[in-house]
Amino acid sequence: MVNKLVPLTEFDKVGDEMYGMMAELFPICRSITGEGVRQTLKILQKRLPLKIVEIPSGTLAFDWTIPEEWNINDAYILDPDGKKIVDFKKNNLHILGYSEPVDVKLTLSELKRHLYSLPEQPDAIPYLTSYYKKRWGFCLCHKDLIKLKEGIYTVKIDSKIEPGCLTFGECIIPGEEDEEVLLSCYICHPSMANDSISGAVLTAFLGQWLATKKRRFSYRLIFIPETIGAIAYLSLNKDRMLAKTYAGLVTSFVGDSGFFRYKKSRRGNSVIDRVAEHTMKYRLQNYKIVDYYPHLGSDERQYCSPGFNLPVGLLTRSPYMGYPEYHTSLDNMSFVSAKNLAESFSLYADIFSVLEMNRIYVNQVMFCEPQLSKRDLYSTLGSQKNQAEERLKLQWILNYSDGNLDLLSIAEKMGVPIGELGDAVVELVRTGLIKEKSPPCQQR
Ligand code: ZN
Repeated sequence: MVNKLVPLTEFDKVGDEMYGMMAELFPICRSITGEGVRQTLKILQKRLPLKIVEIPSGTLAFDWTIPEEWNINDAYILDPDGKKIVDFKKNNLHILGYSEPVDVKLTLSELKRHLYSLPEQPDAIPYLTSYYKKRWGFCLCHKDLIKLKEGIYTVKIDSKIEPGCLTFGECIIPGEEDEEVLLSCYICHPSMANDSISGAVLTAFLGQWLATKKRRFSYRLIFIPETIGAIAYLSLNKDRMLAKTYAGLVTSFVGDSGFFRYKKSRRGNSVIDRVAEHTMKYRLQNYKIVDYYPHLGSDERQYCSPGFNLPVGLLTRSPYMGYPEYHTSLDNMSFVSAKNLAESFSLYADIFSVLEMNRIYVNQVMFCEPQLSKRDLYSTLGSQKNQAEERLKLQWILNYSDGNLDLLSIAEKMGVPIGELGDAVVELVRTGLIKEKSPPCQQR
């Protein structure tokens, strides 16, 4: 069934609701494994029936091994006077992610080997991790670090690194067809807003919305720790993902006020690349589209590794490392807004609507033009005033529906948004002048 695009008014309240869920998720200390991930998935389950999967530490996933699980109760530094100067309970970014347990006294110079700050951003706590090399450390504002005086400091980290699991969530929303659209987000960052949890909340809300829509495609929504989670997920679902992924998007950075930015799939001309470009062109005044590159970004790097080469792009607002608040305590709830989240929701919803609408039709009267008047096609469409315009659409769709070009290509040739062709397609299908090509999902 052909749909028009989604009107913005449908999302009046969604931004506020998304912001509310982000505020609930924000304080949790997450990492690539551990209770923070489970707690996060539990909150997301309020919106979406997520299946929770646990992969044991030590499991091989392609060239990687699932690490031991990390959990932390408390961490702090006491200064020579016994005053708590760095406190994990005040901000979980203070702890270097995956810090091993310690309980020591040391001098300032010994302590400084374990302290991390940003001299160029003295008011920000940096976000740092050490997943694969055992270390301990604290992150703090540079303005606080330079104030530390000589003396003996007490350091306590009450953490555990032990065999456990890597946890992820998934939700498959079945459609008329087996072919799948992937929406992938990551849930491994501690208290930062735009990075990580904005994408997770957007994915949950989009899933809830998609479930209410008539769907041609099935939707695979996954909530995973970045990198190792995507690698583990792909190793568990390799055959299915290779065979059935029609299109996909990785999402993050969707709550800030930056322009939208789409990073194409490695293929560069897959259907999701064309759909994203078309939708952004007609929906947005300012946006950026960039070719695929493998050295920075998120889990599109795994989906677009040469063995998979899936048609999956990355759609964000500000890009990775592309804003000063990135990976610091300044990426907080005041850096994101309900309005920005609602705009992101709306753009994603439109992209899914274009994906759903785009298909290949075959003209049933290939030799010369069909006689439109005897099928009463003019009078059924619109007012007298726009009959010429409607007739033009019919003729373009008929001529280019040769079984090779999809509706998106025809809209591009005409220079109109695909949503404007919806009524004409309905009429041409109703009168039998075009039929959908079968099997439908052959162009990715
Ligand atoms: Zn990040």
